[in-house]
Amino acid sequence: MSSRSSAELFKRAQELLPGGVNSPVRAFKGVGGTPVFFQSGSGSRMRSVEGKEYLDYVGSWGPLILGHTHPRVVEAIEAAARSGTSFGAPAPAEVALAERICGSLPSVEMLRMVNSGTEATMSAIRLARGFTGRDKILKFAGCYHGHSDSLLVKAGSGAQTLGVPDSAGVSRDVAANTLTVEYNDLENFKSVMEREGAKIACVIVEPVAGNMGVVPPSESFLQELRSECSRHGALLIFDEVMTGYRVAWGGAQLRYGIRPDITTLGKVIGGGLPVGAYGAGKELMGWIAPNGPVYQAGTLSGNPLAMAAGIATLDVLKEPGVYDRLEAISARLADGLAAGAKAQGIPVRVQRVGSMLTLFFSSFAVKNLQGAKQSDGKAFSRYFHAMLEQGVYLPPSAYEAWFVSLAHSEEDVDRTLAAHAVALKKVSEAA
Ligand SMILES: *Cc1c(COP(=O)(O)O)cnc(C)c1O
Repeated sequence: MSSRSSAELFKRAQELLPGGVNSPVRAFKGVGGTPVFFQSGSGSRMRSVEGKEYLDYVGSWGPLILGHTHPRVVEAIEAAARSGTSFGAPAPAEVALAERICGSLPSVEMLRMVNSGTEATMSAIRLARGFTGRDKILKFAGCYHGHSDSLLVKAGSGAQTLGVPDSAGVSRDVAANTLTVEYNDLENFKSVMEREGAKIACVIVEPVAGNMGVVPPSESFLQELRSECSRHGALLIFDEVMTGYRVAWGGAQLRYGIRPDITTLGKVIGGGLPVGAYGAGKELMGWIAPNGPVYQAGTLSGNPLAMAAGIATLDVLKEPGVYDRLEAISARLADGLAAGAKAQGIPVRVQRVGSMLTLFFSSFAVKNLQGAKQSDGKAFSRYFHAMLEQGVYLPPSAYEAWFVSLAHSEEDVDRTLAAHAVALKKVSEAA
């Protein structure tokens, strides 16, 4: 156990780190209260510095699909570390991980490793702009693609607005090149493409949205993005940083049968270490330096520890029946959450694709950012704290995905559902 409590650590952290954290959502601003500091994790559980055990549905925001400290991942990292933590020169593990990814994603013949999802999407956009010679990009409101300047933009009220920066420090010139449309809104999408299509370098999308809570693509959404992009000579980027190897072996492009031009990856492919990647067909990837004119580099890119963790993770995921197991345990959780709410007459929507899900306090299905924002954030905060008290660690925001891992057992789910019933009672008592 740490000699300092979470409250003491958070107090000190706020003097040393902005907001006391190294990534904003960890600070509990969305739900109030003091963040829990953790000292260890094992399987589906994490232990706080106070020694309290929590069932974890954050999974480090997606990477830990095998759970915490999976023995094969830990062994791979240990072995790699003993051989050298970084060379700044080519090493075999980079080829080994690239072989696995290129062999499983139909649209990816070559890829470049980077160190985060943010770097992957930022570089993919540069590639799209370099290749097409066009400046504008189109994204969907509520889709998060990391924090690079041109992607820190969402719609104002109403669709097809010109980009307005989401953050101080993003120049208006940069933001003005980012067009935004509501997710699942094909009518607006098509009219923007009609008007601006010839100037648009790429359309970037989360093929299953997970960063406004889980919002699946509507029936023909991805198909229409594909055909409109082809028609106007814009590249289609699937940002699979969250969905890659999460919603299926290979990701959303396999699950929905759509072939993007560029794919971005992160999270699961790093097995809990900092990794991102972007990949495409050979012609497009030929534009990347040193062979082509689009510059992109990284001191620690393809890091041997990160490659080892990624390889070990993908090798476990490749075993037969793995995704069926993940699907079954995730369905058990989602169905139980919905049934528990129904039993108490509380309007809740549980939206799930594979092992990512969100419980919205909403009486209607959430299809876009506007819908997500109409869900009851106060109810979620009460619910979150009631779950936390009972030892269930959920994302500290109403607009995030919960992640189920292969380490979650039926007993874990049943314990979660028992806590859920208690938490919902508290929510309705407070209302
Ligand atoms: C997490 C995420 C990113 C950013 O990845 P980082 O590693 O946090 O920079 C980009 N796109 C999507 C879809 C994500 O979920």
